[in-house]
Amino acid sequence: MISRRNGILFIEEVSTVEIAEKYGTPVYVTSKEQLEKNIEAYKKAFPNAEKLYAVKANNNLSIMKIIALNKFGADVFSDGELYLALLSGFDRSRILFNGNSKSDREIEMGIQADVKFSVDSFDELKAIESIAERKEKKVEIAFRINPDIDPRTHPKIATGLKESKFGIPEDQALKAYEMAMRMKSVAPVGIHCHIGSQILDLSPFVSAMEKIGKIAKEIEKLGIQLDFIDLGGGLGIDYEGKGAPSAEDLAKALLPAYEELLSNLRAEPKLWLEPGRSIVGNTTVLLTRVNAVKRGYKNFVAVDAGFNLLIRPAMYGSYHRVLVANKEGEEEELYTIVGPICESGDVLARDRMLPKIEKGDLIAILDVGAYGFAMSSQYNGRVRCAEVLVSGKRTAVIRERETFGDLVAKHRIPEWI
Ligand SMILES: *Cc1c(COP(=O)(O)O)cnc(C)c1O
Repeated sequence: MISRRNGILFIEEVSTVEIAEKYGTPVYVTSKEQLEKNIEAYKKAFPNAEKLYAVKANNNLSIMKIIALNKFGADVFSDGELYLALLSGFDRSRILFNGNSKSDREIEMGIQADVKFSVDSFDELKAIESIAERKEKKVEIAFRINPDIDPRTHPKIATGLKESKFGIPEDQALKAYEMAMRMKSVAPVGIHCHIGSQILDLSPFVSAMEKIGKIAKEIEKLGIQLDFIDLGGGLGIDYEGKGAPSAEDLAKALLPAYEELLSNLRAEPKLWLEPGRSIVGNTTVLLTRVNAVKRGYKNFVAVDAGFNLLIRPAMYGSYHRVLVANKEGEEEELYTIVGPICESGDVLARDRMLPKIEKGDLIAILDVGAYGFAMSSQYNGRVRCAEVLVSGKRTAVIRERETFGDLVAKHRIPEWI
C-alpha cells in the first residue's frame, strides 16, 4: 500500500505530500486496497466461518460499509456501535451484541434490533429474559466464557485471564446454560470467548478452542444444540516489521482444533471469529506536520498530532513505525516524536533513527487503522482531524475535520452563572 516515488511517500497512487496539502494535517489516510486485501485473506483462510468485524477497532462508516459489503458480520460492544453497524449495512442476523456491562436500555435496543447477544453475567441473562418476555421476543444468546488463558500480550489487552473483568468463569458455565435453558424468551445457541488482542503466538488460540470444546461437550449433554462457537478476535499485526502470523497461519493452527472439537459433538456448530485489528490495523497512516525541532536532552520533533489522535503509544507503550514522508535521506540522527498535548506522556515514538528533520517536514506514523482514530478525543481543546480514503488515484474525505463548533456543540451555560 505504501511506496516511495522520487523520495516521496505514496499511498496507493497518491502522494502523501499532496494529501497533506489538500486536506491539511494531521490527517488519517486509509488504503481501500489494503483493507480489501485483509478482508480477502480472512475469506480465503476461513471460507466456512462467520466473520464478525469488531467495530471498536475503527468505526468509520465508510470503512465499515466496505467490510459489510463483503458479508462480514459485526461484533458491537455498545448501543452506539450497534447503531453504527446497522447504519453501515451489516446484516442484523450477523450482529453479536457483546459487552460486560450492558444497561437495560442497551439490552432493549439489541432485542428490538433482533441481534444476538453474548451474555457476560447472570444479571444480564435475567435482564434479557425479562425485557424479551415483555417484548414477546425470543433472543438467541451465547455466553462469554472466561477460559483463563494467557494470550501473552500487553496486560491491558489480555481479556481471557481469570483476573480479567470479562466473561463468566469456566466453572460457572454449565450453571449459566442450565439457567438459560429454563427461560422462556432466551435460546442458548452459542459459546463465546475472546482472549485478548495483538496476539502473535497462535498457541493460546488453540488452547482456548480446546477449553471451549470441553465446555461445548458438557453443554450438549444438557440437551442444548449449539449453532456456533465464537472464538473472538485478537490476531496481532506486524507493528515492528518483524513479521506476524497471517489469517492463513491462524487457520492452519485453529481449524484442526476446531475439527477435533466437532468430532466430539453431535451438532455441528459453525465457527465464528471476530477480527478487528487484523482487518483495519495496517490499512491506515497518520500524516502529521513538524511544528518545531528542539535540540536538548533529546532531539525532540514536535508534530501536530498527539495522544489526542493516537493514544496507543501513551496508553500501551505501543510501537508504531515512523517515516519522513516528504523526503528520503540517510538515517543520521535519533529523534523522539512528540505531540502538542500538555502532558509529558505525549510521546508518539522514542529514539528513532531518521533522516534529518526540519520544521515543515511531513511525518507518517504507520499501522494506525485500529484503535487509532477510534480512541481519539478533544483533549486540550483540539478538534479531531479528518479521515481520508484512497483508492488508486482517487481520494475522498470519509470524516471531516471537526470545527470549534464541535468543541462547544453540547455545552450549555445556565443563565444563573
Ligand atoms: C476487541 C474485541 C475483538 C477484536 O479484537 P482485535 O484484537 O482487534 O482483533 C473481538 N471480540 C471482542 C469481544 C472484543 O472485545
